[in-house]
Amino acid sequence: MELDKMEENEWRYHGEGNKSLVLSHVQLSRVLRLLKYPAEDSENPPQTVEQAFRQIQNIVDFSSNVMSSLLGEKFIHSGEVVKLPLEFVRQLSIKVQNQRPAWRCDKVMDIYSGCALCLPNLTSPTLHQPTHTPPLCIEIKPKCGFLPSSKHVSKDIKTKVCRFCMHQHYKVANGKWKRRSLYCPLDLFSGNRQRMHFAIKHLIEEPQNNFKIFKGGQCIYSSKEGSDDSLDLNSLLHHLRPYFLYGNNRINSHMTSKAVLNDFIQVLVNALLSGGGGDGGGVTDSRGEGRSFCEASLFNRERIRHGSQGLPSDSVLFRILQTQMLDSLDIEGLYPLYRRVEQHLQDFPKERTRLQIDGPYDEDFLEKLQKCPTEDDGSVEYDVAKVHQYRVAMTAKDCSIMVALVPSSEEEEDDEGQRRLRDFLSSRPPAFSYSVSILDLDPKPFESIPRQLRLDQKIVSCYLRTGGALP
Ligand code: ATP
Ligand code: ZN
Ligand code: MG
Ligand code: MG
Repeated sequence: MELDKMEENEWRYHGEGNKSLVLSHVQLSRVLRLLKYPAEDSENPPQTVEQAFRQIQNIVDFSSNVMSSLLGEKFIHSGEVVKLPLEFVRQLSIKVQNQRPAWRCDKVMDIYSGCALCLPNLTSPTLHQPTHTPPLCIEIKPKCGFLPSSKHVSKDIKTKVCRFCMHQHYKVANGKWKRRSLYCPLDLFSGNRQRMHFAIKHLIEEPQNNFKIFKGGQCIYSSKEGSDDSLDLNSLLHHLRPYFLYGNNRINSHMTSKAVLNDFIQVLVNALLSGGGGDGGGVTDSRGEGRSFCEASLFNRERIRHGSQGLPSDSVLFRILQTQMLDSLDIEGLYPLYRRVEQHLQDFPKERTRLQIDGPYDEDFLEKLQKCPTEDDGSVEYDVAKVHQYRVAMTAKDCSIMVALVPSSEEEEDDEGQRRLRDFLSSRPPAFSYSVSILDLDPKPFESIPRQLRLDQKIVSCYLRTGGALP
């Protein structure tokens, strides 16, 4: 890719989150991730070119030096900062504007700095030869998968109902979403196949910003505010069906929609429990399940037929959960430490650099948070280590998992006839090879901590007022 000869026709709108907008190349397996600003700042950018460059370099460093060591290198693609011609960026921003969802347009794409993050396109993996069946990629933003057990938690409800489920009531009450999602992260992170299946079913039913499906690099299923949901599900089934026809079904296509969806979810559960690529066993974490049930989840515990295995310790979910659990004090226990650090920085402003409050996110930063004393020894080093841990946990609560599924039979095209015969005779679901990645690993700013406390209080009081009171 030659950065001085960028062609806007070769790039298209791919997707966006709250903080960035993503463009994908039409041929190369590459994306450009650009920062977004609040629309009211669109005339004058809130930061200089140097600051924008630093911000993106910090994202790369945080991902490659800190998150990758905690989550496992095999899942992480940190990318690199690139400087793009401003004219190219401006043209693109005009071109993609009408493809952006209206509910995201409170922010505008950064067209001033020319800085972007260049990443491999995880929705069109090239590790497999081009096949006639495009890969299916499923993106899940799982959110926080455990209940806090910190002694600092002041409201009992927080130890019974998970944050995501409480937050859903708050979001519906505030008009962010029309309907509540019945997905519960504790079911997804349980390691129990039935509970995971149940969780993914609810992600499909109400995807919000937690679930998307891509086929051959194009988004074919995501939340569409205002559109007819049943229509969407039908079109999804239309896309999925060819991947799940096998055995007798291949001939007469009489597979029910329910069976297609069940097979799809089962393949996804397998990928999430695997070691990240192909098949994998691995030690399982038997401590995991059992203690982690959310009272708001509609999953009926009595339905569990098989005792839980827990999450395999090499699975993506296990690694994410472990990192999320670095938030061991809960925001209520962390906030006083944050205030002590803030006071310390007011008294000794130069300490900000030594304590690496805003980076650099290097090995020393990682060491600071990993070598945290177990007890509060009253030192600022302890406070800072806990704050760093909390910020890392926040990133892990906000990241997404991308699962790429490639029908593995496509790889042995020589044996096409043989494969068909085998599938026909066995009438077992076709095998997929999969790769699992984690994306969206931005550092959360130190200054965002007070906002986290206020949000926590608002969510809990809203739940106690509305949702919690309902039968
Ligand atoms: P959030 O609001 O979740 O914090 P964000 O603004 O930080 O989101 P990302 O999640 O990184 O932005 O990117 C937005 C979307 O773009 C993702 O949900 C995903 O669908 C797509 N995307 C991001 N990075 C890649 C990638 N490397 N390959 C393919 N698609 C990507
Ligand atoms: Zn829950
Ligand atoms: Mg995201
Ligand atoms: Mg993000």
